Amino acid sequence: MAAPKLPSSSDTRSRVITTFLDHPTFSCAKCTAVIALQDELISKAFSGRDGRGYLMHSAVNLKMGKQEERPLLTGVHTVADVYCMGCNDRMGWYYHRASDNSQKYKEGKYLLEREKLVKENKWNLDD
Ligand SMILES: [Zn+2]
Repeated sequence: MAAPKLPSSSDTRSRVITTFLDHPTFSCAKCTAVIALQDELISKAFSGRDGRGYLMHSAVNLKMGKQEERPLLTGVHTVADVYCMGCNDRMGWYYHRASDNSQKYKEGKYLLEREKLVKENKWNLDD
């Protein structure tokens, strides 16, 4: 089965999304593009390259880098780094494939670096 494809970076008509009406989101800390809905968070107990990472069901406004095999704490994974469509900052990676059966649940998910994200909670605008 083909891996899901994000919109091509060469598509200059694609617009960076900056809000999901009334949904709490994680946004890029640099350029405020929305990166993921907080509803899509699976786990905060992951490790990114330099710090904490969030495992997400889905993400938006990301460009997919080159696919490569990478040894991670939990074994070798086939991943691709993902970059913010707004500012090109590296946000984390996408799990194409996990070699270990116990890690298969990560396939098709995103690992986002916590330090690259800001939390925007649309429910608490009065705070
Ligand atoms: Zn950005």
